[in-house]
Amino acid sequence: MQTNDQWTTGDFRRRGAVVLELLAEFVDRGRGRDRPVVRVRAVDELTRIMELDRLPAGGGIDDEGFRELVVVFLDHGPPVHHPAYTAHQIAVPHYASALADLISGALANGMSVFEMGPAAGAVEIAVIDWMLAKIGWQPSGRNRDRQPVGDAVAGGGVLTHGGSLANLTAMLAARAAIAPEAWRWGTPDDLVVVAPECAHYSLSRAVATMGLGTSALLGAPADAFGRALPDAYPSLLDAIAAEGKTVMAVCANACATATGLYDPVREIGELCRERGLWFHVDGAHGASALLHPDESVRMDGVELADSVVWDAHKLLQTSALCAAVLFRDGRRLFGAFQQDAVYVTDGEREIGHDFIPHQFECTKAPLGLKLMLVLALAGERGLSENIGALWENTRRFSARIGARDGFEVLCAPESNILCFRVEGDDGLQTRIRKTIMREGDFLLSQADVGGRRWLRMAVMNPLTDEATVEALLDSIEELAAELLG
Ligand SMILES: *Cc1c(COP(=O)(O)O)cnc(C)c1O
Repeated sequence: MQTNDQWTTGDFRRRGAVVLELLAEFVDRGRGRDRPVVRVRAVDELTRIMELDRLPAGGGIDDEGFRELVVVFLDHGPPVHHPAYTAHQIAVPHYASALADLISGALANGMSVFEMGPAAGAVEIAVIDWMLAKIGWQPSGRNRDRQPVGDAVAGGGVLTHGGSLANLTAMLAARAAIAPEAWRWGTPDDLVVVAPECAHYSLSRAVATMGLGTSALLGAPADAFGRALPDAYPSLLDAIAAEGKTVMAVCANACATATGLYDPVREIGELCRERGLWFHVDGAHGASALLHPDESVRMDGVELADSVVWDAHKLLQTSALCAAVLFRDGRRLFGAFQQDAVYVTDGEREIGHDFIPHQFECTKAPLGLKLMLVLALAGERGLSENIGALWENTRRFSARIGARDGFEVLCAPESNILCFRVEGDDGLQTRIRKTIMREGDFLLSQADVGGRRWLRMAVMNPLTDEATVEALLDSIEELAAELLG
């Protein structure tokens, strides 16, 4: 019988084996450049090729149809494993995290309430404690073997479905710290948030979502590349106070999404400590530098923060998605969602076993397993070496591009993100990017910095080598000549 039995284990084994084989082949072909990195087709065409109109009502797809669907799906999914995939900040996942996704999918332990996934809960606590330690903070104390030392305050944190939700959670905790009544009575209208203008858009979304309005997000003084200039902060903060406004949080980019440049974390952190202001470090992309002995210098002073966002699905070889919001003082997290959901949390359990009071999500995937399995296989050392290689390669690519006639780099890279442009106006950069994407040999992104448009690479893959970059530059040069000619 085909109907109503979702777990025909024989089918699961047979089709699962097919899926694993197809995926391995997909990765091999991507890594070997044996396919275009991107094929952008119109939705209508994709709908037709995958027969998406017919499938939903159909049911009972046979082995051949099932295989064909997976094949076509993969065919139109750009492989992040491809060396020419240099566009977006998404990890080339360790296979271990892909397997964790499979385990999670089969297990379906929405683990927000402890009994729904005790194993997943323990893993999340361990992952959070590992991240807290990397920042230099105390463990969450939810793990009885790792209580904070002496009278040090216990850290805290929670995994979220992405850095954007993590940023929102951090802002809610910051609001609870300065305006504890806001949960009940609404956001006071004198609150403002200070951040460089190039802060990730999820921050302005968070601020707007919380009812402060985007006008409450005040641009911090920054250099031509968008990096914060802490020397100019005191006068800004004084001016804010003189206007009768209250600073809810000061946010730093570590690093900025567009440029990959880090704000001076320690200087801003010290200033915030002096003035008693909530300091938030958005390390969604760049906090992973903490794992590398040389590159961690960019994160110097992060322990002064009140909250930190750190994505594992960007630079910790973890499949999308798995992000963390972390707090120096774990009790701050409790303020983020002051709401009683008595039907799920009886309030008698030890704090920390139920995640629901501390996260926006109700049902949540066991995100921690993905990172934990990567750590179990690659180890901190493997992750660190990967980061070192990406950072080093990016510096080399930048030098090469800067030395080439007709090309210009924005500035020396501080991470694995690199902005450059070819001689010509802004429109030319956009047209080149679009044409390259249509041809399918390279995947690039773009960014506007300092009033100019730049082509942007995020070097996420250690297989992206000099030959890849040379070939890309040759293509760009040819295209520029064609488009200008
Ligand atoms: C990517 C990024 C985010 C958003 O994280 P998601 O996991 O994509 O939601 C936030 N801040 C910065 C600085 C980022 O680079």
